Amino acid sequence: ESVYLNGEWLAPEAAKVSVFDRGFLFADGIYEVVPVYHGHPFLLEDHLARLERSLAALEIANPGQAFWLDLIQQLLTRNHSQDALVYIQVTRGAEAKRSHLPQGPLQPTIFASVSAMPVHWDVPTPVKVTLLDDIRWLRCDIKSISLLGNIMLKQQAQACGALEPLLHRNGLVTEGASSNYFAVKDGAIYTAPTDHLILPGITRMWVLKLAKELAIPVHEQAFSVADLAQLDELFLTSSSREVQPIGQIDDIIIGQGGCGEITERLVHAFHASKRQLSAQ
Ligand code: PLP
Repeated sequence: ESVYLNGEWLAPEAAKVSVFDRGFLFADGIYEVVPVYHGHPFLLEDHLARLERSLAALEIANPGQAFWLDLIQQLLTRNHSQDALVYIQVTRGAEAKRSHLPQGPLQPTIFASVSAMPVHWDVPTPVKVTLLDDIRWLRCDIKSISLLGNIMLKQQAQACGALEPLLHRNGLVTEGASSNYFAVKDGAIYTAPTDHLILPGITRMWVLKLAKELAIPVHEQAFSVADLAQLDELFLTSSSREVQPIGQIDDIIIGQGGCGEITERLVHAFHASKRQLSAQ
């Protein structure tokens, strides 16, 4: 197994960064996760566009598209990766002493590694989620490595026996700790719009496109906490979970508690599209 750190390919245990790295001191950095199927990065252009937006938001220098393409290709080749998740992290870099304000432009710290993609079943088993107050900051659109809120919420969810928190702000569902939510009501799909309150999930965007192709009405409109008990179906999306049906929110059973019909159609459409794109 080999990881990339600042121009070098190393064994994971040999990759070391300075304690003065701003990623370590301030979580001053961003990351990206790209799914890979049969050795092909899935929706790579969209992931790179989001990576570039995250860097621009923090005013961290961007080595450019050609650099990222080459890095990912080398990472996959060196690790013989077939079905995998590529992790890329960029921090603002290390400086001589700790200071909130960066002291001039720094050399960013770039790290990349690859891990195994979880197995996906034909139709995934429905999971339970738990409703929690969205305590995170107001720039959730940036894929920041500062994930304290997400981690605390994920721990609270785990304590309730739930896979993910279902986060809400001002009565509306925002997203999960590492996923986007979709509700189905009367044959139509609802999901929060891409503003500062959610991460614009690449899987979210792809599922919206698939739904439109299947002529399922979609509304990029947040659904409310008050309506949760009346939903017909609920699912979440992410690069590692793909399309994950939800059978239960705390004590509320969604539909029959299984995988709903529209969710199942989207699970199948998702599998078909990833097979198609990775065969090219
Ligand atoms: N929302 C948050 C907060 C996330 O961390 C993630 C991914 O980890 C997502 C949504 C889903 O994004 P994607 O579909 O690009 O993996």
